[in-house]
Amino acid sequence: MLNACDFDGTIAMTFVPSPRGIGVNEAYRLSCEEILGPEGGMLYDKIGGLQNRTPVEVVDALLEAGNRRVLISRALSFLLRERTSLEGFVPKGKGASLGHGTNRSSLLIAEILVRVKMRHFWVEIGSRFPDSDRIWPEPCAGFLEFYREFRAFGELHATDEMPVELGILSSGHDTFITRCFEVWGVPCPDLLVTDDLMRSSACRHMAPENRNKPAIGPFEMLQREWKRKFEGELEVSRSLYVGDSVKSDGGLALNLGIPFVWFNPAKQAVSGFGGDILCISDWRELEPLLHPWTIERMKDGVSLTRIMKEVF
Ligand SMILES: [Mg+2]
Repeated sequence: MLNACDFDGTIAMTFVPSPRGIGVNEAYRLSCEEILGPEGGMLYDKIGGLQNRTPVEVVDALLEAGNRRVLISRALSFLLRERTSLEGFVPKGKGASLGHGTNRSSLLIAEILVRVKMRHFWVEIGSRFPDSDRIWPEPCAGFLEFYREFRAFGELHATDEMPVELGILSSGHDTFITRCFEVWGVPCPDLLVTDDLMRSSACRHMAPENRNKPAIGPFEMLQREWKRKFEGELEVSRSLYVGDSVKSDGGLALNLGIPFVWFNPAKQAVSGFGGDILCISDWRELEPLLHPWTIERMKDGVSLTRIMKEVF
């Protein structure tokens, strides 16, 4: 059984700014200003902010909205000045090269953007809100409680034939996510597919439009990670997907034909979703699935879609 899920806004409340006022949007805006000059921040506003886009998509939009030639040359002089301080924010073998190997300007600028953004976040992760013991970023409602139950359930009931795993598919970054789990004091899942992997040479074979949710490219990479860990194929019908964006996360689940769990704490109305959807505002609402019966049913060949309909 694979409980695959998104990270930002689903596992962690990264859109809520840190005690010093830095959230995902702010970090992006500041990074654009640093790399592209003061105009970078204005251009970031002009393109409408992040809107669930990947770094490469953001950079493409920025270059389209401003003077492409000037912006590229500013980014390159920034890189010349800052290069050494940008190493280390992306694990070895992931991301794109900051050197000559990266030939498309938007890919190189996206790589710079990711690392500058991470440099901002590095000092924010784990920072404490004044007068409370809350730390940034806070886990989403019920996540840590569910995750502990999920791991305990896996320890008791998973078998070689039926692993029980949580896998993360995120347009965020490895070091950010692993650091969050560290400050929360729980082990980070092994199955982690972030934008760092999607930008790397491991995805060279994949068309750019297939590398971002709702396209299934990231899920294919998760299947590869699964195979590496368990030496067997992932049974897609034993998977579900949890996310806070109907468009990218719901779209991915739809493209895979698996149930979509909409993490929807604002309790917005569902409209026009063409597949199986379950709305939750707290991860603990998924706990009824953590029952030996779920495993038994799946061993009998029943899909998770069907099981979810029986449980919820
Ligand atoms: Mg999200």
